Amino acid sequence: MYPTLRTSPTRAQWIDATASTLGDFGDTNRKALDSANRAGEFPRDLYAEMGRLGYLGPLVPKEFGGLGGGVAEYVVISEEVGRHGLVSGQIAAQGQRWLLDWGTDDQQAQWLRPIATGAAVFSESISERNAGSSFKAMQSTAERTGSDWLLTGSKTHVNLGADCDVTLFYAMAPEGLTSFLVDMTLPGISTRVTDPIGLRLIRTADVDFDQVLVSDEARLGPPGGGMQTFLSTFNISRLGNASELIGLGRRALELGLRYAGERQVGANMVTDFQGIQWLVADAWCDLQAASLARDDAAIVHESGVDIALHTSVAKKLSITAAEHASDAAYSLVGGHGLYFDEPYADILNDIKVLKVAGGSAEILRNYIARRILKDAGHEGLS
Ligand SMILES: Cc1cc2nc3c(=O)[nH]c(=O)nc-3n(C[C@H](O)[C@H](O)[C@H](O)COP(=O)(O)OP(=O)(O)OC[C@H]3O[C@@H](n4cnc5c(N)ncnc54)[C@H](O)[C@@H]3O)c2cc1C
Repeated sequence: MYPTLRTSPTRAQWIDATASTLGDFGDTNRKALDSANRAGEFPRDLYAEMGRLGYLGPLVPKEFGGLGGGVAEYVVISEEVGRHGLVSGQIAAQGQRWLLDWGTDDQQAQWLRPIATGAAVFSESISERNAGSSFKAMQSTAERTGSDWLLTGSKTHVNLGADCDVTLFYAMAPEGLTSFLVDMTLPGISTRVTDPIGLRLIRTADVDFDQVLVSDEARLGPPGGGMQTFLSTFNISRLGNASELIGLGRRALELGLRYAGERQVGANMVTDFQGIQWLVADAWCDLQAASLARDDAAIVHESGVDIALHTSVAKKLSITAAEHASDAAYSLVGGHGLYFDEPYADILNDIKVLKVAGGSAEILRNYIARRILKDAGHEGLS
């Protein structure tokens, strides 16, 4: 769709080329992707292939092996990933943002190229069993030992936690919340693969840190600067989530329409029924509205102003649009869509995960309401 992003002819050309390449990649590897998804396995070879094609390093400058793009390129890739059921590079993109915003020269030299090309896998170890939506309850600790640090804590829900080469670990240091880039081969780290309902191509894991010794060079950002490092990437992750949700909604609706356009019920095709046509119209309108908000957020993002409200609105609308499209697809297909060897359950489950991970629907609404009510300013209403 990309209603606003397409208004630049050069970008429209790039969007078409990207959609076509990623679509072909999905078609060629459909069987392998579907079976990995079903098994909950990370297809590292296909992930690396996406890196070689240039789709894992949208934000990384070309001299570091990336695409040298911006937020617009990132959201297009994310939407096409959702639309073609590919392995998500969202965690890698967040890692790039972290490294570009906060990484030292050495950290950037060590990790940017491998992450951008898919040679190394990045993960983020933030959530704990009792600390998801709020950081206040976080129990992981970072203690100083001489000039080094000892990291201890149990993380959960970590996408690619058991498959990654490096993770960004958040813990409470004496100075407050602090983040560390941790090489996963260090002693004291153990992982246990878990079994999420969605985003199974980037399966989750519990990751335990038992007195993991890291040097001060592993610290990302200042001691006590964890909230700042986190906030510098959450707009990117929200836009990535929003885009993947729009892509998933497009996929559900497109597959449903393809089926219903050829499915005869009595004297009619399913798409001849007005009741069905209205479902399609409503779902399409929601996808278009979400795309407009997402495109707007991507463009505003590039102008460097405060975009937290834009990204929160974009993700909120995208959740509703994707759920709506998935719902419409079930109505289009009927009973034949209600089997695990059809794609609809996988799409719905991916949507449900993206509704929670990386800023849940409720947290987004809290933030939007706070902005509207702030200082009785009412965000453009009055
Ligand atoms: C498949 C999957 C992948 C994930 N990937 C990662 C990852 O790679 N790295 C990582 O660190 N974390 C990851 N997460 C964790 C994710 O970010 C958290 O699940 C999310 O932040 C919500 O935390 P919680 O599940 O503990 O829910 P809780 O914080 O326990 O919240 C429970 C419910 O209450 C709602 N709620 C919470 N606070 C409020 C409030 N103030 N007002 C209204 N409603 C509220 C929430 O929206 C939620 O619906 C992943 C989660 C899943 C399921």
